[in-house]
Amino acid sequence: MVVKECKLYSKEKKGKIKCLACAHKCLISKGKTGVCGVRKNIKGKLILLVYGKVVSMNIDAIEKNHYMVFYLKVMLLVLEVLDVI
Ligand code: SF4
Repeated sequence: MVVKECKLYSKEKKGKIKCLACAHKCLISKGKTGVCGVRKNIKGKLILLVYGKVVSMNIDAIEKNHYMVFYLKVMLLVLEVLDVI
């Protein structure tokens, strides 16, 4: 599991963290997650629990992609991962 510390947060009183990544601006106590459930206060740091996880994986014909200019008739493995911090 890849552990990634978020950048958009501020430390508040009593070990709480204020996440600034979206309009909810959750105030998160130690060991708890924000409204989204993917950012957690772990030992006073805001950790993104889903960083690097695969969101989707599929094989596409390259003609569906803009790389077709270079490699005609080739299949393409498409991986999408989460990397928002
Ligand atoms: S913890 Fe999630 S829901 Fe809360 S402010 Fe951060 S990104 Fe938004």
